[in-house]
Amino acid sequence: MAGQKILDVREVRKAYNGLEVLKGISFGLYRGETKVLIGPSGSGKSTLLRCINYLTVPDKGRIFLNGDEVLDTNIDAMRARMGFVFQDFNLFTHLTVLDNVTLCQVKVNGVDKKEAISRAQQELERVGLSDKADAYPAELSGGQQQRVSIARALAMDPDVLLFDEPTSALDPELTGEVVRVMQQLASDGMTMVVVTHEMGFARQAADEIIFLEHGHIVEQGPPDVMFQQASNDRTRAFLNIIA
Ligand code: ADP
Ligand code: MG
Repeated sequence: MAGQKILDVREVRKAYNGLEVLKGISFGLYRGETKVLIGPSGSGKSTLLRCINYLTVPDKGRIFLNGDEVLDTNIDAMRARMGFVFQDFNLFTHLTVLDNVTLCQVKVNGVDKKEAISRAQQELERVGLSDKADAYPAELSGGQQQRVSIARALAMDPDVLLFDEPTSALDPELTGEVVRVMQQLASDGMTMVVVTHEMGFARQAADEIIFLEHGHIVEQGPPDVMFQQASNDRTRAFLNIIA
């Protein structure tokens, strides 16, 4: 895909206690692309996502966001440009939904309060939660909480959104509402990296699927190719098991 490279991950390595869990990972992400990262438990998916915004500091390798290198020295500014959606939502439990979506805009991006509220309302509408602005997280279902978390990330106007198994903590009947929001974002042209086991989403929304195993990218390609003719036996086995 031609266009602007939003994310450029080059040869990223990470070890824990001498055991390397990322063994030189490289990939690029262009504006408007959705890449879905799949792989067995323990393959390094979360570590890779967390290395991208230095929640985990890589041992080696370089990461560029829109041409700017992510470094210790600029990490706060870089993080503000990357939305992160966690498995367990990470909402501020003592704040209302509206305040959750407003706070970081004001504190981190320096957006005027009134403008931040208006943006928050707009993003809550986008995820179908306009009517929950005054509720507290505990009053919402897991699916609703995760949609608030997505609205909060969107309100920061990020260059890229990173999702780490956003539906894994949800009861099965609640995954659909979150997956639909993510599908809508992908088709709206949001730039995203999504770690997920939702193969329906991968098939429908991914521009490319990356299969990670033991800290290596084993195979990557468009969903139709990966699902129909993945060349690697382990990729095929994994897709058959999950799908
Ligand atoms: P995945 O998200 O694909 O399940 P992770 O990135 O969470 O994989 O983990 C990759 C490997 O790194 C696993 O073996 C895991 O036990 C190990 N690991 C992850 N985080 C830490 C940590 N903070 N300290 C030590 N080992 C870790
Ligand atoms: Mg993980």
